Formats: sequence, C-alpha cells, structure tokens
Amino acid sequence: MEDKKALKILSDLIGIESANDHETVVADYLADLFKDYPVKITRVQYAEDRDNLVIDMGQQGPLLGFSGHEDVVSAGSLDNWHTPPFAATIKDGNLYGRGASDMKSGLAAMVVAMLDLLESDQELPGRIRLLASVGEETGEYGAAQLTKEGYADDLDGLIIGESSNCDVVVTHKGVIDYYVTSKGVTVHSSTPEKGKNAIMPLIKFAEQAQAKMDSHDQVDPVLGPLTHVISQIQGGSQINSVPDSAWLSGNIRTTPLYPNDQIYQELEEIVAELNQQGAELTIRYSFPEVPLPNQKHTKLAKLAQAVIKEKMNYGGNFVADTGATDASEYIRAKGNFPIIIMGPAPGNVAHEPNEYTPVSNYLDGCKLYQDLAWKFWQEYAK
Ligand SMILES: [Zn+2]
Repeated sequence: MEDKKALKILSDLIGIESANDHETVVADYLADLFKDYPVKITRVQYAEDRDNLVIDMGQQGPLLGFSGHEDVVSAGSLDNWHTPPFAATIKDGNLYGRGASDMKSGLAAMVVAMLDLLESDQELPGRIRLLASVGEETGEYGAAQLTKEGYADDLDGLIIGESSNCDVVVTHKGVIDYYVTSKGVTVHSSTPEKGKNAIMPLIKFAEQAQAKMDSHDQVDPVLGPLTHVISQIQGGSQINSVPDSAWLSGNIRTTPLYPNDQIYQELEEIVAELNQQGAELTIRYSFPEVPLPNQKHTKLAKLAQAVIKEKMNYGGNFVADTGATDASEYIRAKGNFPIIIMGPAPGNVAHEPNEYTPVSNYLDGCKLYQDLAWKFWQEYAK
C-alpha cells in the first residue's frame, strides 16, 4: 500500500472521537476497509454504540492474533493541545492526535499489514485474526468479552499493538483496584456507646491489609515487587456524630509470584475476620487484571526479536511494562499461546496532550507486522 493511503487510514481513525465510547464508529470504518476481500467480519457488541470487531483472514495454517483497542482516553483540556486532538496533524515528521501513540497507530498498522497481505495475490500459508476491542482504557472489558466468547481460544500466538517503539514487551504487572465499605450506626457523639463507628474497623483493615501486602517480599527479577497503596479514605459527615459509613480504596500492582487469586483471598480473609469481631465490611473489585508472566522464552518473542533486529535499526529489546493491557484478559483464553506487546509508536507520550508518533515509525510498523506474520507462519507450521 502506498504510504499516503496507509497514513490516511491512521488519520481517519484519529478523526473518530472514540474517547471511552463510540467504538462502533471505529468498527464500522475498519469493517468497510475489508468489505471487498475474502475475510470473515464479526461484530461482538458490548453495549449500544460499542462494538468489538473480529476479522479473520486466511484459510488454513497457524493462526496469529493481532490485537488493538478501538478506544482512546479523553483529550483533556484543549488548552494543552497545539493541534486539534481528533484531527491528525503532520508536522516535522510527526503525526499528532489522540491515539497517535495509544494506540490507533498500532491498530492501523496491523490493519494495513492485513490489507497488504490480502492484496499480495500470494497464497497465504497461515491465518490472521484481528481482535479490535472496546473499553481497554477503562477496564479491558472488551477483551474480557472476546475472551469469554471464545475468540482467542484457538490462537497460536498473539501480538498486542500497544506502543513500544518496536521493543518487545514480554511481561507486565497485574492490577487490583479494590473498595472496602464499612457500615455503622450514627448517634450523637456524646453517647457513642449507643452507636457503631464505621471508621474504626476500616482503619484496622487498612493496617492489616498493608502489613499483609508488605509481607510479600519476593521480588520478580524484571517487574520488581508487588506494591500496595491505600489510595483514598473517607467517612463520617459531622464532627459530633458517630459515623455510620466510611470507605477506602486500594491499588495493588501484582506480579506472577503472587497471583491475583491469592491476593483476593488474603484481603477477603481480613474482611471476614474483622466482620466476625463485629465490623460490617464489604469488599469489591474494579476491573482487576492479572499479570502477564514473562514470555521471553517463547518462540513468538524470539522470532519477533529476530525480525525486528534484522529489519530495523531500533527496537527489538525485551522489556517490561508497568501497566496492564488486554493481555490480562486474553491470557485467560482456553488455548495456551504466547502473547507479546509490540507497537511502532513511542509509548512515553500515551495519554498526554500532543500525543504523537513519528510518521516513519508508523510506516515501519505497517511493514513489520507483515514480516512478522510471514515469519510466524513459517515457524509455527513446523
Ligand atoms: Zn493502549
């Protein structure tokens, strides 16, 4: 495909304001690009105006997954932008706009690679499945839905196109966001014995949870330690009343050494014990994500590294990432396949105003995903 057309696809995607919603417009646009080709297009609706999109190409052979999310984070204050966030602007070799890094460039490059492969008039020795998800930025629930409905079960390998400057992200931490609420009975503070203070058991919970998480002192060699922060606490409404409600939130970054399930159990044991002593605590989680165990020994990671080192003059290092990705969901699929995260844009500008990708990185990515597909089909056919 000509560079101009490849750039138009990215620019068009950035022009769609899919900030935490309206992903269907992205799905419509992508589906339309493939309408004249022998592919299978499946929409998986999450909610109104929020379609995940699955595109299958190829007839037989190893199945490579390409994953990208259709949503972006909101632009924030427009005062901080030098160009309109939802209109791609090219200046000094960089393309600016919301999603230029995270991650419409990765998604577009994957789509361009697929279109080029379909145009190549060669018989393809393998298959590709594009998994375009909704709601990655606000909880990875699109990928969760696709996984639950089996769209990842038969993959032989998966590349997530989050921006990494063409380095290969082989592992990342998981996340557990949790809320604990405490119930009490409010009375005048001059007669506290008649009431029940909601704040005190919550403080006990905070101390015990912190101590328990701090006791997890085994350190992942790449990801570092599990971390835990009690991030918000609130309760009561009046200085001379016994508070009848209080709540706190915590944020835990997990590593494969301490799986999420273990952590849930530990938190719930603390809650149960305090409740036995008379507290009324409840805990809930907000879109927890599991860590991605290190993939550096997988064939997929190695072949990606080899292709990048051969074809490009940057990227190709195995690195770890701090945040969770859709990998946290796809890893729950039935098949046991490797997952790597690799995208052309620099990742350090994600979520920032004036987010950008060098045009050259994006165009490199379009070719790189094609090369990776060919190499993957060769290696995984063996
Ligand atoms: Zn992203």
